[in-house]
Amino acid sequence: MIFDIQRFSTHDGPGIRTVVFFKGCPLSCAWCENPESQSFRPELLYTRVRCVSCGSCVAAAGGEGLRADPAGGIQIDRSVEPRPEVGAACPALALRVAGRDMGVAEILDEVLKDASFFAASGGGLTISGGEPLAQADFALELLEAALAAGVDIAIETCLAVPRASVERAAALPLRWLADLKHTDAAAFRAATSRADAAGGVDACLPLGNLEYLAGRGADLTLRVPVIPGFNDDEASMRGILEFAAGLPRAADAKPRRLDLLPYHDLAAGKYAGLGRAYAFPPGLRVDSARIARFAELGIALGLDITIGG
Ligand code: SF4
Repeated sequence: MIFDIQRFSTHDGPGIRTVVFFKGCPLSCAWCENPESQSFRPELLYTRVRCVSCGSCVAAAGGEGLRADPAGGIQIDRSVEPRPEVGAACPALALRVAGRDMGVAEILDEVLKDASFFAASGGGLTISGGEPLAQADFALELLEAALAAGVDIAIETCLAVPRASVERAAALPLRWLADLKHTDAAAFRAATSRADAAGGVDACLPLGNLEYLAGRGADLTLRVPVIPGFNDDEASMRGILEFAAGLPRAADAKPRRLDLLPYHDLAAGKYAGLGRAYAFPPGLRVDSARIARFAELGIALGLDITIGG
């Protein structure tokens, strides 16, 4: 289940990369930039201001899940899985179905269109999400196929997945761009749990997977989203940076890479498109002086810090 393929990315690993976004994630972080990635089912993204109330989508849906709103636009029953043709029926690009089943060959065909850019820039394929290792068998099949075609491979992951999936992926020459959100179990659970999940995910799972990857010398870059009210206080960030600095690494290894990713609200409109509330107030930012202080602290701990990523 894939919800997007983006080409010419320069922020998801080295060089120019094609990013394949897997749909579905065991976490449900309130600040997620891709809220359409969280559910494992296809979903409709609806942009009301573009809608011209033509009714084409309602007809394409065959009466299942969509109806005209008497006040203009449409009403969406989100308990009904959208038909793939519903998005294509919209002449105003107001409606998009996020999520469709794709095969390895179909994806690889798309990825290899950019092979010359990969070769010229040192880029390749990055699988992202959602959580790619939540569809571990398929993710590994795709990575192995890309590798066999001579493509550099990378993964963006929250690591909230079983160790067995991480071990299988770690057997490949994979670049890991791995989240490190918090080291406090209660804070992690409160901010990342799905509303419908009993208990949520224990922070020990991703932290333990990070220790495993670092211990086996994986090509690992840590990514720390800096989120107001979650981990942007001194104590939380010190805990995160000290954990990162304490991860095992060979004596002659380069400093551990860690990207500080300041919160932004660019995805707020997507939440509206999914019929969901956005958890943060408009205009919220992390103070840049605070980010700089965190960077200094990380450097003092021996980390190779980048702001942004
Ligand atoms: S097809 Fe597009 S423009 Fe027409 S009613 Fe549906 S969402 Fe609105």
